[in-house]
Amino acid sequence: MEETITHIEYTVETAQQLLTMEEPDVQMLYKLADTTRREHMGDDVYIRGIIEFSNICANNCLYCGIRAGNGKVTRYTLSADEILEAASVMATGHQMTVVLQSGETPALGDEALGAIIRRIKKETPLAVTVSVGNRPRDTYRYWKECGMDRYFLRFETSDPGLFLRLHPGSTLQERLSCLADLQDLGVQTGSGFMIGLPGETLHILAQNILLCRELDLDMIGIGPFIPHPDTPLGEKKNTYDDNREMFFKALAVLRIFNPDAHIPATTAYDAVFPGKGRDLALQRGANIFMPNNTPACYRKDYLLYPDKPGVDDSADQCLGSAVVRIRALGRTVGKGPGHSIKGACVAPSPGKAV
Ligand code: SAM
Repeated sequence: MEETITHIEYTVETAQQLLTMEEPDVQMLYKLADTTRREHMGDDVYIRGIIEFSNICANNCLYCGIRAGNGKVTRYTLSADEILEAASVMATGHQMTVVLQSGETPALGDEALGAIIRRIKKETPLAVTVSVGNRPRDTYRYWKECGMDRYFLRFETSDPGLFLRLHPGSTLQERLSCLADLQDLGVQTGSGFMIGLPGETLHILAQNILLCRELDLDMIGIGPFIPHPDTPLGEKKNTYDDNREMFFKALAVLRIFNPDAHIPATTAYDAVFPGKGRDLALQRGANIFMPNNTPACYRKDYLLYPDKPGVDDSADQCLGSAVVRIRALGRTVGKGPGHSIKGACVAPSPGKAV
């Protein structure tokens, strides 16, 4: 098994073959993912604090709880001072990156968000990741000038037809072109996908993993699709509802195919496996933890999916439990910003041969 992986061919067929492994071989797959993570990324787990600064969204992604068409959501946008206050607290703990995430509408405006990035860079030692969707290249360039270090934008699915069905009025090509702009501008770039979207085949899942490799990403975030009752997919089931091990197999294969990427243990793993999903993810390829730092009063209004963990916890509690969980696994909390190990912040990296 390990020998097979050592001489792995990075193809869709190989990814698909690995995804279909069953017990007891699957334990070797997890072991190899963990070894790959340790050899390339070390035992440090970097903690990135996320601030969900606005749930206003102009899009109608069929799966998303904060889609424009969901009239049950109470909409909010944090003020610049509220964002700065939440970010300042992070720097006193172990969180040296702030992730600014929102729905896809310029709730603050490009210049206002640029000003916030500048203030965070001036007033705190934090690295800044932005995740606010498809934007023009000039906006990305402007935010980079303001000090933005990284950008996170999932492609969600590598299948163009499925992408179009899930994102009315938007194409996979447009999203990939945003990712290309970001990489070209020298921004550390993250992307990823959901696992088990209705209509997703095993072949598409394998393609998703391969696309991450082809894009040569600095960060890759994946997580199970969780149906939200107030969306058009509310009645649907995750493709792997009866085979939830697939969520971890996908993560393990993702790590083996992308040894040098930062990969978070995303919150959705805890939603599906309460209290232990992110721990298992950290043992099967992940090396990043992202506690919620959104001010407590807004959290219940940023429900991308139901039963999102941490909604009632304070930022302190989220951080505290992250540190405890990381140390309980025998891992260490990463110091410093935990930038890409590919050097994308210095110069755009050439595409990796597959
Ligand atoms: N608007 C930005 C964007 O799309 O990149 C950032 C916010 S968006 C809500 C963040 C991510 O939430 C999406 O990339 C998507 O993968 C995830 N998400 C949304 N609805 C979800 C669901 N029902 N289950 C699991 N993940 C979901």
